[in-house]
Amino acid sequence: MIIVLRPDATREQKDHVIKKIKSLGFQAHVSEGTERTIIGAIGDEAALQTVPLEAIPGVEKVLPILKPFKLASRDFRPENTIVTVGKEAIGGKRIAIVAGPCAVENKTLLVEIAKSVKDAGANFLRGGAFKPRTSPYAFQGLEEEGLKYLADARERTGLPIVTEVMDVRDIDLIAKYADILQIGARNMQNFRLLKEVGLCKKPILLKRGISATIKEWLMSAEYIMAGGNRDVILCERGIRTYETATRNTLDLSAVPVLKQMTHLPVVVDPSHAVGKWDLVAPMAKAAVAAGADGLLIEVHSNPEEALCDGEQSLKPKAFKQLMDEMRPIAAAVGREI
Ligand code: PEP
Ligand code: MN
Repeated sequence: MIIVLRPDATREQKDHVIKKIKSLGFQAHVSEGTERTIIGAIGDEAALQTVPLEAIPGVEKVLPILKPFKLASRDFRPENTIVTVGKEAIGGKRIAIVAGPCAVENKTLLVEIAKSVKDAGANFLRGGAFKPRTSPYAFQGLEEEGLKYLADARERTGLPIVTEVMDVRDIDLIAKYADILQIGARNMQNFRLLKEVGLCKKPILLKRGISATIKEWLMSAEYIMAGGNRDVILCERGIRTYETATRNTLDLSAVPVLKQMTHLPVVVDPSHAVGKWDLVAPMAKAAVAAGADGLLIEVHSNPEEALCDGEQSLKPKAFKQLMDEMRPIAAAVGREI
């Protein structure tokens, strides 16, 4: 249920509505908009049907949320959510560029890549320290040592870091180092993990599951938000289809579809979608044109020797060129890079 307060509702009236909702056994989630406050009463809606909430002073109207996802829906929050990390933001006018290697491999290489993406204009450094690999014999990541290298690269470049968490047991450790925690495609429906990161104080970058519908994806965002963490960033990274020419099929229509359905920022990862470095730039540009709030791009200074996803990684020079080529496209859609 969405309770829309009158624009002139007082603080006392707002507090009274919240108290009332809680006394009825509901969770109250408040969204303070520029014009008015919306309170989401989350729980079994049927139990609220007989309560005359519109009779409460300060309440303008009461609407059912018909979608299964509530806190993530645009009905609950008409304004776009902007996730801020220090002086960087995802969801505002500037398109956020998250770039870096698939995996953290060693300190020197990471710093070298971090400096190059920073110089090209990236806003965040990415790199996995815990890697979800298809083969148990493939490089699994440097774990805490990798997190330390990420923190060191942040210190040297000022770039906040994005890194994946795969297991509830690692959340505290990763949250100690990372600025944004990534939930990978394979864990999009790991509900225990979603619930736990919902309690975490750091923003969550939630990748779309390999064969997840947009609705399922938003339900996963809802899990995180229901725990109290409102800073969820959605990341389209391609879905599995019958097509084999690319690693996955980038569902670019997900961007405008999500913009209608949710207030959460939407980032596109063309690297994991196409799986081949020379297809990354065209899809990155298309994502900007489609209205993405950010891009996640794998960059490696020596892709041939990369321990993970070298074939889809851009070299620093190609990344810089892509950044330059994306700027006029961003400007054409009223954004900046
Ligand atoms: C990654 O970002 O390196 C990664 C493993 O992504 P995904 O979960 O989308 O496969
Ligand atoms: Mn990767």
